[in-house]
Amino acid sequence: MSEKLCHLVDDIRHCQACAESLPFPPRPVLSASGSAKLLIVGQAPGLRVYETGIAWNDASGDRLRQWMGLDKALFYNAEKIAILPMGFCYPGRGASGDLPPLPQCATLWREKLHRHLSEVKLTLLIGQYAQRYYLTKQGLAIKPNYPGSVTDTVKHWQQYLPDFLPLPHPSPRNNIWLRNNPWFELEVLPALKDQVARILESPVSNVL
Ligand code: SF4
Repeated sequence: MSEKLCHLVDDIRHCQACAESLPFPPRPVLSASGSAKLLIVGQAPGLRVYETGIAWNDASGDRLRQWMGLDKALFYNAEKIAILPMGFCYPGRGASGDLPPLPQCATLWREKLHRHLSEVKLTLLIGQYAQRYYLTKQGLAIKPNYPGSVTDTVKHWQQYLPDFLPLPHPSPRNNIWLRNNPWFELEVLPALKDQVARILESPVSNVL
């Protein structure tokens, strides 16, 4: 990691910008390196991730690794894969699951981080917040009245390549969505594995 990126990540780890809006003291969870070729953008850490300080260290992460065909060693290799959720700290729980990521996190840090991620070839956009932020910003939204639904966006996955690949959240809470949209497993997951293997120059596996 370059010295400048190192300082930036250190600043983020000490960030207290929205401490008063968070249920627990800020504990940003992210990883980045100037050599990373793949970027994973999710929502925000869940409680287990907050407690351990390890990104995607939960059932959602297990499924995501399975989707990508990666074992933990490669998934957590920050030299190859950057992990930057839309909110770096656990936002707390609402009536129907975890709260959305706090928007000031992206405003404060995301552009600064991207200045150091020039090697990224593909960004996985996981869930509505990542899709809305990146696709709107890039003028790639599929409809004039974007944000569209995650289903609509993921259905049009091919039009966002080679830079972006939108995905639903791999949370067990999305099992019904996955059951109702079998095309995702049939069409998108093989493409995801191929893209990941091509970019990381490593063979896909079927690890859990
Ligand atoms: S969510 Fe982001 S902006 Fe808010 S305290 Fe954590 S790192 Fe700072």
